[in-house]
Amino acid sequence: MSTPHFETEAIRTQIERSQFLEHSSPLYLTSSYIFEDAEDMRASFSEEKERNIYSRFSNPNTSEFVEKIAKMEGAEAGFAFATGMSAVFSSLAALLNAGDHIISARSVFGSTHSLFTKFFPKWNISHSYFKVNEVDSIESLIKPETKIIFAETPTNPGVDIIDLELLGKIAKKHNLILVIDNCFATPYIQNPIKYGADLVIHSATKMIDGQGRVLGGVTVGNADLIREIYLFSRNTGPALSPFNAWVLSKSLETLAVRLEKHSENALKLAEFLESHPNVQHVKYPFLKSHPQYEIAKKQMRLGGNIISFEIKGGIDAGRKFVNSVKMCSRSANLGDTRSIVTHPASTTHSKLSEEDRLEVGITDGLIRTSVGLEHIDDIIEDIKQALS
Ligand SMILES: *Cc1c(COP(=O)(O)O)cnc(C)c1O
Repeated sequence: MSTPHFETEAIRTQIERSQFLEHSSPLYLTSSYIFEDAEDMRASFSEEKERNIYSRFSNPNTSEFVEKIAKMEGAEAGFAFATGMSAVFSSLAALLNAGDHIISARSVFGSTHSLFTKFFPKWNISHSYFKVNEVDSIESLIKPETKIIFAETPTNPGVDIIDLELLGKIAKKHNLILVIDNCFATPYIQNPIKYGADLVIHSATKMIDGQGRVLGGVTVGNADLIREIYLFSRNTGPALSPFNAWVLSKSLETLAVRLEKHSENALKLAEFLESHPNVQHVKYPFLKSHPQYEIAKKQMRLGGNIISFEIKGGIDAGRKFVNSVKMCSRSANLGDTRSIVTHPASTTHSKLSEEDRLEVGITDGLIRTSVGLEHIDDIIEDIKQALS
């Protein structure tokens, strides 16, 4: 058989069947594993044998989940975490030493920004930010102590696109580790390793679960780096629970069909918004009007399910819009079957100064929409009545 396609790997990558020959992968709720004898125990602990010892290190369900994501991303290895943030923190903490420096896009997930600005400085790890529209300045930020380039694309909540090929080239030229948070794109839409990323991180809480049930995270990439991340994590304990891994691995079986439909709905909603008189502008990667449309087309298979748009009328109009939706949920989450709207200026980013908000592309009337899997006509009808 030729190399299986994405959908086939997502469904047919399974841990070994037990004596019951179950069709769907069973759930292994066990904290530890038993040994045949003292020799088996010695060989297992010395890692001469690859096997499960304790579920903080590995578990059949987490292994299945990681194997799927690694195949989907074209990665050599991976490790699964309790949340997206534990994946970000543990992966970076495992690789960085006191005195090291990170270069990152300014538009990163809020907690990642807090990690860089509030917590890493405690260990003398510093960072420099570049703006998404100033990627040409990245090389000028490199210092002798720079170790990592970090970025998300598409960005949250601005839905800007950063050129992965360019980041890959810069990282390679200067021998830096390129880490991409690929959460907004999912492994179905974008594979940063193709462009030179060394590590790819996902919050599995979002589109990978896809149904708003469990938290999870995963890092995949270069085997040597994953080995360091594994050793750090096996001792510090951020491992994904077997139950959540089982849920997430099941979710991956439908990732491709879900993202096709999410993206189809999102494009239709984006086109509707673009034609609406109360909307100033719309940002969606696969709209021709997107400033980085060409780059999006190059590195993304689909536009994904996140749209940001600017309502005319500033903060008050944004707040009023969010109050006026009837079906769409008001929630800070994203990637659910249910469509979600948020108004970052009055919620998630309300603590930032206006200047800082603008720096990450959050204007007063900006609405972030996570387009769900309801019928598109019902989504448009709800957004339309809220806009009027
Ligand atoms: C949600 C999110 C995270 C954090 O994931 P959790 O599972 O909530 O810890 C990290 N990065 C991005 C881009 C996210 O959207």
